[in-house]
Amino acid sequence: MKYEAVIGLEIHCELKTKTKIFCGCATSFGADQNTHVCPVCLGMPGVLPTVNQRVVEFGIKAGLATNCEINKYSKFDRKNYYYPDLPKNWQTSQYDLPIAEHGWVDIDVEGEKKRIRLTRIHMEEDAGKLVHSGTNIKDSASSNVDYNRTGVPLLEIVSEPDMSSAEEARAYMEKIKAIMEYIDVSNCRMEEGNLRADINVSLRPVGSKELGTRTEMKNINSFKNLEDAINYEIERQTEVLEDGGHIVQETRTFDPVQGITLSMRSKENAHDYRYMPEPDLPPIVTSQETIDKYRSELPELPDARRARLEKDFGLSDYDAGIITSSRAMAEYFDAVVATGADAKLAANWMMGDLLKNLNDEGLDISKSPVEAQRLGEMIQLIMKDTISGKIAKKVFKEMWTNTDSPEKIVKDKGLVQITDTKAIEGIVDEVIAKNQKAVDDYKGGNKKAIGALVGQVMKASKGKANPQMVNQLLAQKLDG
Ligand SMILES: [Zn+2]
Repeated sequence: MKYEAVIGLEIHCELKTKTKIFCGCATSFGADQNTHVCPVCLGMPGVLPTVNQRVVEFGIKAGLATNCEINKYSKFDRKNYYYPDLPKNWQTSQYDLPIAEHGWVDIDVEGEKKRIRLTRIHMEEDAGKLVHSGTNIKDSASSNVDYNRTGVPLLEIVSEPDMSSAEEARAYMEKIKAIMEYIDVSNCRMEEGNLRADINVSLRPVGSKELGTRTEMKNINSFKNLEDAINYEIERQTEVLEDGGHIVQETRTFDPVQGITLSMRSKENAHDYRYMPEPDLPPIVTSQETIDKYRSELPELPDARRARLEKDFGLSDYDAGIITSSRAMAEYFDAVVATGADAKLAANWMMGDLLKNLNDEGLDISKSPVEAQRLGEMIQLIMKDTISGKIAKKVFKEMWTNTDSPEKIVKDKGLVQITDTKAIEGIVDEVIAKNQKAVDDYKGGNKKAIGALVGQVMKASKGKANPQMVNQLLAQKLDG
């Protein structure tokens, strides 16, 4: 039997508010353990929480940016469970009336567009963190509890199980990340846990409408782990089913070192959490006016920006898609073009040498040694014919480790393009004299033979001769 995967994601997105969701403690990352705490986030008896209005604003904006309906009447609920990192023994979250519902985003996988529905977006508080003395809880003599993260605001963005491959799940998470960055509600630093996903995976026979039993993998915090975990889980479940077994509903953990998922605990159902309305917080009532105001504050979103780059600059759909895939990329592109550089050249250089170098060194574009300003200046040197595209590759390589302006690098390294007709003519004559066979071939009707001669001239000039002029002069001499 052939099976197809059914995948849904719950993405936890940490919001970039200065203070926590229900108290005034700082949310900044990396502080000493238990220094950003107060009686409210420590769950002391008798304290009362108040809602950080920025969190509500960010929740509504995230909902609007993902085509959700905003619930004008929303409320908080208690999700009850015990764990040492949860001082109140409940997490204040949202249950039946989340801030936003019924949205969607579009993704692209290998040129195919697909719409992924969002079930809901709700606001909640993060839990604290256990810090083990060893590498994990089993081999540790002791563990500290750090409550700095307790009460840091999160949005949980829940998708419908609309994805059917690891690639689609990745594209979806990338899209959510891009949107959250564009609307500036989260730093989305996955390595700091700002953005992490719980993944549900089940299989069903191709063509069947019924959902199979699913497993859940928690806290996946990189795109690579997301793909690896899903691919492993699809393979594992396929084997179980093909052997006549059945899938157990459970929570599994992904081990990125071995690339496998391991059983952790049987999966709990919603009723296990004994959800109840939060009595200490009033409902969140939002007017249409407020929703309209937040909508008017939204920036241009990735899809719209992509369409604009295609329309205004004639970029291909693929290039525009990559350039708008993160806010940092899109802003880099804008900054290059703002220097006066040609937009298509800017896109080509970004998609080519820049991304290749960044990928090789595992750098984010915001940390690029070649800044947008200097790439713009270099492209202008190409546009002014000071350097050829080929020489520009050398200049770019030098700029990666040399902070000088491209103009200074070109001057210092003697890379200025030769556009002096006399100088090029001299080299052309020499090459024609030395390559009688290619000349005869050309004159005998094999027009392609000119390519070899152009190559010789470029080589003799160390790549500095203007290629158009070389072509022209050669043709003139050979045809004349
Ligand atoms: Zn606090």
